Amino acid sequence: MSRTIKAMIVPEQGALLAPQNIELRELKPRDVRIDIKFAGICHSDIHQGRGGWGEAIFPMVPGHEITGIVAEIGSEVAKFEVGDRVGVGVGVNSCRECDNCQRGLEQYCATGMVMTYNDLDRYGGGEPTYGGYAQAVVVNEDFVLRIPDSLELDVAAPLLCAGITTYSPLRHWNVQPGMNVAVVGLGGLGHVAVKFAVAMGANVTVLSQSLSKQVDGLRMGASDYRATSDRQTFTDLAGAIDVIINTVSAPLNINRYLSLLATNGTMVYLGLPETDVTFNIFSLTSNRRSLSGSTIGGIEETQEMLDFAAANGVGAEIETIAAEQVNEAWDRVVASDVRYRFVIDTATL
Ligand code: NAP
Ligand code: ZN
Ligand code: ZN
Repeated sequence: MSRTIKAMIVPEQGALLAPQNIELRELKPRDVRIDIKFAGICHSDIHQGRGGWGEAIFPMVPGHEITGIVAEIGSEVAKFEVGDRVGVGVGVNSCRECDNCQRGLEQYCATGMVMTYNDLDRYGGGEPTYGGYAQAVVVNEDFVLRIPDSLELDVAAPLLCAGITTYSPLRHWNVQPGMNVAVVGLGGLGHVAVKFAVAMGANVTVLSQSLSKQVDGLRMGASDYRATSDRQTFTDLAGAIDVIINTVSAPLNINRYLSLLATNGTMVYLGLPETDVTFNIFSLTSNRRSLSGSTIGGIEETQEMLDFAAANGVGAEIETIAAEQVNEAWDRVVASDVRYRFVIDTATL
């Protein structure tokens, strides 16, 4: 099998993506080679490709929402066979030894999880990692997920990042039937957050910049949908929300959102704006509120999320695009013009 494959690469910071050949690494004994079928476009790809989070490694092959079929396995691979339907998310390796790794929290590995792209595989041979906007990827089997049969590979792809990133905090903050959850931003993460919170029995309010996607939000199961451009929203919902899932990629007036929390309520930051944010401490102390953050989820929890999604009929709502449309899709994500996740059909590479 040829190690030379086609990918969409960002040649240098801020440059347009272009098709180019890359070399996959040689399979190590526990490596799996996956023929990629679909790759979701996460806003994090854009933050990194355009340098918004600071220095990055170029050339970059973005993409950490990967689904495909196992094409080749190393000599010691035990969990997968050629032909299996699989996925890869945001991480591809970790130390396996620290407390967090031992507890299944590889995303918080003490010496740093290896990211699927824009990273070096420190626990392997130190090679640069390349992501999912490509025909294939080679990954250690411990970081490969199984896609349940009832989930199509295209709608499953976004679950590998948007899915686990929203599922994990909903579980960690113990969202239960009857609780009031608000999701800020109805984009890639936000729309999956709505579906998961609804499946967990919560009453879900969407807080979006406008009412333009209200019909969709209610169809996804939200019981309330409010525009944050309308000040009345913050008066009507003051003190009413138990958990706020904030998926917004840009800075927000945090005080206004904290004022929506009930006593002991929590606002969880998932969105990763490119600049620092500030808020007033009184917003927390007045109702014993918490402001917190969360990053993706561990491998075991990611499998649990995929199985939960299959059991509850949760998939992403996608717009499938050809590889050559990626630059345009990135611009549309930045403009909040996405319904609700772009997914690249890698057969078009
Ligand atoms: P996305 O599809 O662009 O969704 C973000 C949504 O935020 C938009 O659809 C929009 O929703 C809202 N928004 C955008 N700009 C805004 C502004 N200036 N003011 C208010 N609302 C605004 O992005 P995504 O892929 O879901 O990612 C969202 C963020 O999460 C990104 O920063 C990404 O890097 C981060 N992320 C974090 C993790 C993690 O592990 N913590 C994982 C994945 C992604 P409305 O149109 O409904 O207002
Ligand atoms: Zn992501
Ligand atoms: Zn570790």
